[in-house]
Amino acid sequence: MILVVNSGSSSIKFSLYKNEDNKIVKITQGIAEQIKVKGKVSISYNQNKYEYDIDLPNHKIAIETILTKLDDLNIIENIADIKGVGYRTVHGGSISKSSLIDDSVLNKLNESSKLAPLHNPPALLVIEKFREFLPNAKHVACFDTAFHQTMPKINYIYPVNYDWYKNYGVRKYGFHGISFNYINKKYEEIVGKTKTNTIVCHLGNGASLCSTKNGKSFDTTMGLTPLAGIMMGTRCGDIDPSIINFMASTLKKDVAQINDMLNNESGLLGVSKVSSDIRYIEDGYRNGDELCLLAIELYTQKIANFIIQMANQQEGKVDAIIFTAGIGENSATIRKKVIDKLFLLNVKLDELKNEASYSDYLKISSDNSGVEIYKIRTNEEIMICQDVISFL
Ligand code: ADP
Repeated sequence: MILVVNSGSSSIKFSLYKNEDNKIVKITQGIAEQIKVKGKVSISYNQNKYEYDIDLPNHKIAIETILTKLDDLNIIENIADIKGVGYRTVHGGSISKSSLIDDSVLNKLNESSKLAPLHNPPALLVIEKFREFLPNAKHVACFDTAFHQTMPKINYIYPVNYDWYKNYGVRKYGFHGISFNYINKKYEEIVGKTKTNTIVCHLGNGASLCSTKNGKSFDTTMGLTPLAGIMMGTRCGDIDPSIINFMASTLKKDVAQINDMLNNESGLLGVSKVSSDIRYIEDGYRNGDELCLLAIELYTQKIANFIIQMANQQEGKVDAIIFTAGIGENSATIRKKVIDKLFLLNVKLDELKNEASYSDYLKISSDNSGVEIYKIRTNEEIMICQDVISFL
């Protein structure tokens, strides 16, 4: 069995898979949340949902509780049956592929903690504890940054003092790589081609675009941190960097506080003043709310601008534009508004297919479109699971 773990500062999401005759089957999934606050563990198994209110004062107890509950519910007979554990890890610095966790990988993760202070430290803690509980399993770190290590220098160097890159690692890393990797593999499987040029719009609460050239990441919109690029649920994306200084002195706050506001109070939430969730903003938009209209126009314009820039770097040879993640998979309105803003590309949306329900994926461009358009559901967990299997 393989356990896939996605941890945050107060939660640990997990799912358990088995690999039978090269077919990966999900057995169960769940979450331990409100760690250090209160504590709750939920597990879905065989169409039932089991919920427990349990004190979870730290990550160690949360992990112990997850493993005990899996045992109590007879989902696993023996925790030693878990042969591999895969961890979604946000920042891998310059690591270019999923890696078996050893001291050198742990050191690199520690170094990258400065670049992802909210994400890497809880991931490291969780890795340490799972290694204690499952000493004989293979532990594999899968990085959101790894897929983008193929980007050419022209796309990852910032126009600042070159010493910042050389001495402090200030460069574009990019994120959502596990999702982009999954989506590109899926697209190539669907069309039966390899080395494709795609522009993938991963539009979740956090959101970024990735352009692939010959099947490899060529450019992406997030940067040193996930704050850069397009406007997101609560993050601002690219802005004039001087705004930070200006607002720090205007509001008499320090840079860290302004950075926090740019991460948590900006984007769709900041502009619409309604919500970070596109469903509420679309409701406001349909009811004629001016700020909701502005938020949606701004959001889709930013995405369209990056698509055009990426298409230019692909010398116009774009095979497909693909929408994925919460908004990309579900919002026909956002997809249509983005496509309608792409004047320099020969793209034609099939509006019925754009609105149609689907399971895994659906091609939503018309037959006479020069570029294919798809909506594809992402699956980061299965990608992590496959990576773990490759080490077993
Ligand atoms: P993340 O993994 O970054 O937290 P998700 O990929 O789960 O985010 O996307 C979450 C967002 O997707 C929500 O904030 C909401 O805006 C949007 N979303 C989710 N479901 C729907 C839906 N059925 N219709 C439209 N938007 C949706």
